[in-house]
Amino acid sequence: MPFLAKNIQKVKPSPTFAIDGKAKAMKAEGRDVINLGLGEPDFDTPDFIKQAAKKAIDEGQTKYTAVDGTPALKKAIVGKFQRDNNLTYTPEQIIASTGGKQVLYNALTATLNEGDEVIIPAPYWVSYPDMVKLSGGTPVIVECTEENNFKLTPEDLEAAITPQTKWVILNSPSNPTGAAYTETEMKALTDVFMRHSHVWIMSDDIYEKIVYDDFKFKTPAEVEPGLFDRTLTINGVSKAYAMTGWRIGYAGGPEELIKAMKKLQGQSTSSPSSVSQAAATAALNGDQSFLKDRNDEFKKRRNRVIEMLKKVEGITCATPEGAFYVYPSCAGMIGKKTPDGKTIENDEDFVTYLLEAEGVACVHGEAFGLSPHFRISYATSEENLVKACERIKKACSALTPG
Ligand code: PMP
Ligand code: GLU
Repeated sequence: MPFLAKNIQKVKPSPTFAIDGKAKAMKAEGRDVINLGLGEPDFDTPDFIKQAAKKAIDEGQTKYTAVDGTPALKKAIVGKFQRDNNLTYTPEQIIASTGGKQVLYNALTATLNEGDEVIIPAPYWVSYPDMVKLSGGTPVIVECTEENNFKLTPEDLEAAITPQTKWVILNSPSNPTGAAYTETEMKALTDVFMRHSHVWIMSDDIYEKIVYDDFKFKTPAEVEPGLFDRTLTINGVSKAYAMTGWRIGYAGGPEELIKAMKKLQGQSTSSPSSVSQAAATAALNGDQSFLKDRNDEFKKRRNRVIEMLKKVEGITCATPEGAFYVYPSCAGMIGKKTPDGKTIENDEDFVTYLLEAEGVACVHGEAFGLSPHFRISYATSEENLVKACERIKKACSALTPG
């Protein structure tokens, strides 16, 4: 449609939300659907956080706040970065926004000019390339193979950097693979960045708190303090505190960049919700011990899903360090025929078949830039996961050689 802007025509609707919408619509029609499509914790927001929000409402914290967040929230964020990541930010180096999504979008829009490149390791979270395009930049996708546990190698990073590179987006633990960089692996990447002083690092740490088996999370600016002045460290409360609907994300970074992001936010959405900010303040300042119980539960589910998928002929699945996703390969299914005679040409056909034949909603690997795979979000009950894996097995064994 000629009326629409060129930039909006370059991007697609978020595939994760598209699949979630389709699964929910099928459910509403009475179909028995198990939704492993959307990445959001099934746990409820902890009670102490809800209480803080209720108190904020009762106390009249129902007005606009400072564009970049209340002093209380910014203080809590400064404290969090110091406590968890050994990063010392001043309040001027902090911004709170409407979700990590808005932080990313603001940062890209505030910095990209036409021709600027942003390196994005694939598999990537669905929104990165489209956000770069919306902001007028050019995504440069670097494929990370399954053999390398879906992680970016220093050699591939080095080879992708050009004089036009403005940012590299790192996401550890990763959506969609759950892969996370050890300190040594991260140091190998930060060593490359130290050799290219024009490149900035956007570290999306939103799954920081969801790691297993004593994995020690490390963020780039912590691993290499020499990068502090060109790193934007992004985080949020959506995943760790099961607060996806509250819409609070935040970042720490160089003051000039934060100021530009604040300017953009002030001219678009203004502050994030005042009540949500009070809730996020309580989340960051509160007792963090509940996180361990939730991670223990996530880990049980991860192990269960992997154990069950291993029994499906033609599916292989790596064991990730964190997040609540697995990213199995469905290479063994490509070229096979469904009972009603359709050929599975790619991973999108495969997930469509799973949804239509067995009512299991997953997201196809093509949406994350690495095929043939599919993403399972195991942020749902073990009972649901067992049922879903049984159905996947049934669907796969009903396929016949093409
Ligand atoms: N980054 C990644 C990797 C994600 O998976 C998500 C999930 N939506 C986000 C950022 C944004 O989350 P939110 O906007 O809810 O903070
Ligand atoms: N990050 C989640 C996912 O990948 C939520 C949906 C979204 O923001 O894309 O499913």
